[in-house]
Amino acid sequence: SRIRQGLFLVLRDFQGLTQIILPQDEAHSHVRKLLSNAPVESVVRVTGIVSSRPPGQENPKMPTGDIEVKVETAEILNSCKKLPFEIKDFIKKSEALRMQYRYLDLRSFQLQYNLRLRSQIVMRMREYLCNLHGFVDVETPTLFKRTPGGAKEFLVPSREAGKFYSLPQSPQQFKQLLMVGGVDRYFQVARCYRDEGSRPDRQPEFTQIDIEMSFVDQAGIQGLIEGLLQYSWPQERGAITTPFPSMTYEEALADYGTDKPDTRFGMKIVDISDILRRSDIQFVQNALSYPHGTVKAICIPQGVVKKRQPDGSLKSLLTKLLGKEQQSELIRALNVQVDDVVLLAAGEHKRCSALGSLRLESADLLEAAGMTLRDPTAFHFLWVVDFPLFLPKEENPAELESAHHPFTAPHPVDTNLLYSDPTKVRSQHYDLVLNGNEIGGGSIRIHNAEQQRFVLEKVLKEDSEVLSHLLEALESGAPPHGGIALGLDRLISLIVGAPSIRDVIAFPKSFRGRDLMGNAPDYVTPEELEPYHIQVSWPVAETEAKKN
Ligand code: ASP
Repeated sequence: SRIRQGLFLVLRDFQGLTQIILPQDEAHSHVRKLLSNAPVESVVRVTGIVSSRPPGQENPKMPTGDIEVKVETAEILNSCKKLPFEIKDFIKKSEALRMQYRYLDLRSFQLQYNLRLRSQIVMRMREYLCNLHGFVDVETPTLFKRTPGGAKEFLVPSREAGKFYSLPQSPQQFKQLLMVGGVDRYFQVARCYRDEGSRPDRQPEFTQIDIEMSFVDQAGIQGLIEGLLQYSWPQERGAITTPFPSMTYEEALADYGTDKPDTRFGMKIVDISDILRRSDIQFVQNALSYPHGTVKAICIPQGVVKKRQPDGSLKSLLTKLLGKEQQSELIRALNVQVDDVVLLAAGEHKRCSALGSLRLESADLLEAAGMTLRDPTAFHFLWVVDFPLFLPKEENPAELESAHHPFTAPHPVDTNLLYSDPTKVRSQHYDLVLNGNEIGGGSIRIHNAEQQRFVLEKVLKEDSEVLSHLLEALESGAPPHGGIALGLDRLISLIVGAPSIRDVIAFPKSFRGRDLMGNAPDYVTPEELEPYHIQVSWPVAETEAKKN
């Protein structure tokens, strides 16, 4: 790792750093020379005597700080060339360079820590599931076919003209089929693939802790996951308490403007429609005249932009349009203190995502200005439950899509509504949120073939033929079942406090989905494409040019 004044050498291995004392006597001059001249990051073998450091020279910051090794013999196993960057955590390097030389970046303390902790957590999860709860670890195929609904899948060409495999976005169908096959407790550390284009902090391939159980209800899955996380939680991050709190989807949207609320701080959204209904503010009146018109607000503590005056009044262009009484009602409803800022949003909305985003944005700004809103060592788990079964499609709100996926069962209380007013049906879908991030989601599944066919054909207008294998399986003695998947990369990144999920994946893809080290995806020649009956639509010459 480094050499100091020809006297010390610091060797790094997977356990950390060890200080080596170079012999200064004549008899060992060749050893001294050999090690002094070795370039940093070379691979060396040293034998010697491990001894205590002289009193006062111990380094309490190093796990090996009490000892040193007096060298007797040494050997350079492999010399290291000049590297594109130094392997020191404090040396700043661009992420592109880190990704291009990922094998060097992996030597950093932080990445070593992240990957080793990830491995320990996964081992504990396996223990918990397999040894304590009778789960069976089953591998499912990664070459499959398109699943209706949900994320876009990667296609893989096959040698049968015009036919493609799909890389599964999750093992969803297989795990349900395993239930039908009598593997009543399944789990897998499963690789999933989603072709969702460039999105920050998403990876085209990522890992789920994927779980499915027969004869289980929502509370059963939730209890299992709480136990799993508690069992595998790293001691150094403090204990986590169970059961986790729970909130309905409706509440989450109303109070936080999102279905994954960060409950580490307040600043909840307050509906002030009734207070402002009697005001003369034109845009407020306009908003309130619509069917879902509301006015909502958040109060940002110490926000000091448009502020309540020290005399206790509100300072805003809007105050002249508000009566004294309305002003005090607002102050009361939002619990406004001196130097707070109130942000309003008026519009036609059921959810209030604008204020939800502003709430998070304001928290970031306040924290950047030195205020602590969220304890960086706190872990706030939250179940979000009672999701709607279907949501209007973003691109065409007249059509419905599954809020989770098409296999999710309706809430038992709402089952009849499925056939009369599907938009009103709540589902048995639950999401697990940690510090405002969705780290898992699952549902109790439809196990009745008729109901599944109805959802696919009549509600989602999908071709149920592509799922005939699943529908047939449901008719073949399928037990009631349900499951969940935890996003392992995101979970680990939150545990270690990494800024990105890339920091907990050994070989991640770039923001644009590229492997910057091996340069994937890459061009292939027309000859290589031939067996797949595929032609690239630009001229071959251009392909070749790009290749070179
Ligand atoms: N397969 C689902 C997903 O990937 C999780 C589940 O429903 O178990 O989101």
